[in-house]
Amino acid sequence: MSTTTTSTTPTTSATVAAPVVPTSGALTPLGLDEVRITDGFWADRQRVNGTATLPHVEHWLEREGWLRNFDLAAAGTLPEGRRGREFADSEVYKYLEAVAWELGRLGGDEALESRFRAIVDRVAAAQEADGYLNTRFGRPGQGERWSDLEWGHELYCLGHLFQAAVARERTSPGSDDGLLGTATRAADLICEVFGTDGIQSVCGHAEVEVGLAELSRVTGEPRYLELASLFVERRGTGVLQDIEWGRAYFQDDVPIREAEALRGHAVRANYLAAGATDIAVEHGDDGLLDALRGQWDRTIARRTYLTGGQGSHHQDEAFGEDFELPSDRAYSETCAGIASIMFSWRLLLEDRDVRYADHIERVLYNVVATSPSAAGTAFFYANTLHQRTPGESSPDDEVSPRASSSERAPWFDVSCCPPNVARTLASLAAFVATSDDRGVQIHQFASATIDTVIGGEHGGRFRAELVTDYPRSGVVTVRIVEAPSGPVTVSLRVPSWADDAVVTVRPVDGASVGRAITPGYADVERSFVPGDVVELTFSIRPRVTLPDPRVDAIRGSVAIERGPEVYCVESVDLPGGDEAIARIEVGEGVVPVEDADGRLSIELRTRSLADTAWPYGDAFAGSGPDETFTASIAPYHSWAERGPSTMRVWIPITRA
Ligand SMILES: [Zn+2]
Repeated sequence: MSTTTTSTTPTTSATVAAPVVPTSGALTPLGLDEVRITDGFWADRQRVNGTATLPHVEHWLEREGWLRNFDLAAAGTLPEGRRGREFADSEVYKYLEAVAWELGRLGGDEALESRFRAIVDRVAAAQEADGYLNTRFGRPGQGERWSDLEWGHELYCLGHLFQAAVARERTSPGSDDGLLGTATRAADLICEVFGTDGIQSVCGHAEVEVGLAELSRVTGEPRYLELASLFVERRGTGVLQDIEWGRAYFQDDVPIREAEALRGHAVRANYLAAGATDIAVEHGDDGLLDALRGQWDRTIARRTYLTGGQGSHHQDEAFGEDFELPSDRAYSETCAGIASIMFSWRLLLEDRDVRYADHIERVLYNVVATSPSAAGTAFFYANTLHQRTPGESSPDDEVSPRASSSERAPWFDVSCCPPNVARTLASLAAFVATSDDRGVQIHQFASATIDTVIGGEHGGRFRAELVTDYPRSGVVTVRIVEAPSGPVTVSLRVPSWADDAVVTVRPVDGASVGRAITPGYADVERSFVPGDVVELTFSIRPRVTLPDPRVDAIRGSVAIERGPEVYCVESVDLPGGDEAIARIEVGEGVVPVEDADGRLSIELRTRSLADTAWPYGDAFAGSGPDETFTASIAPYHSWAERGPSTMRVWIPITRA
């Protein structure tokens, strides 16, 4: 078995500057050099991410000593002075991945490039001669390598290293920084250690699977994909120790082909499913793909919050049972949302099924956009749907020990979420559009430019400009700048809730033609010439959403959505203050009102309730008259920006 694979010449797929580049599938991703987000909701967040969040993350990695761990490893002075939890290395790798995408997004930046290279050098210096790379294990005074697969996170950390190297190779092919070589040396080592004749186990936290599969795509090295496949097939056969929460916690309870839903730790479950999808696609394994599609269906239908968030157990950061989705116990970790996007995006590329793109949008607007503060320097880790007490502010200069803090915190003891948000926002343009041999598909709406080459019989260069102020309005305009001769199909996603969508073609030299279109993809096929416009329009009205009664924790309540945004009521907008959030109700059939600036308000009632010695009985008297008033409601992603508050997404309906 060769162990000399380094800096392999990139394959064709490696030149797409995108996070997921399968060798087959219904759709081909477009890279960061092909789609650029230019203006609006996501452009604003990308700018904040690049200018504030990335420096913030690097500052905290340095301040907390997680970067210095690599220096100590290189100097041979570990374990003394090592700081951070067992997975601290992974946050450095996620940061490198984020910076690699950011450099790709910007088309280069000298200062950022040199910061990137400086960290890559520090990481590489810590790698041992045989390729081993981890600051927590393997030295005198530390645990032996691979001695704690349940909790040690060694392979998990490497998965993030591989994703960072993949991001770099795809955005800066053939770079001489050495990151790809560092990654492949580590990958070669684990192929020997965990291969067919090696240790017959897996990492407690899935992630190395998705990293190996992508590294295989970039390098063309089949052993990496085969090792990923071994890890996926081994898990579920009881290879890890049983623990307090059961082997479902790390998806080692049921083989992946037999599982019916995602379960256990929500980030692990989604990372595993994403990696398994990569393997199924590369192997053309329809059985595995069908199992994964079924798990996605059941998880979305029964184990996902309105926000798209997942995970309703705090103690093990895990999925609950079907329909176990209590608002006030929503864990909905930011990383679980991102992991769910990773899983869904892979299925979208394979199947071109609009449901995956709809879910991605829901998670983007209501989990990914919720986590970072407007300034980009504080984050939600957990994303509750009901905050009962205002809680305390997290100081700007302190690490938060609590994942479920009531306000965004600058950094956490377990700080997986901030760099995960950073890498997602930096690479976001890659989730906007795809191509196939017939044309281009637009899955997410943003003002953007598209410049790509369509393959197939009528292939050629295709350039277009997208203009929209979505989610403020539902008008999306695609102006063709250049198109191949012959028919091309431009497809636009029509969201599931858009019940009055119209797609109109406005040719430069002819009459406009519009037609009503149902949710799904609106396909417009024609021989486009520069200046032709395709316009998708639909109403963005506030709508009242009911839960399936089996989600019994919120039975009898409603939520307000507007376009892709879930709304919430915050105590700062209520007369009566923080405590009133527990007593608000909404009349049946009451709908929100929208003002000229797009702000929503709704008529609510605050029930007066006398305190009782026993909170159960046949009637509850008021302490005075109920109060009816009109309150502003705001997008959930903006909550807690105005200081400590209480909040709820689901509002009980007044009973007659
Ligand atoms: Zn996280």
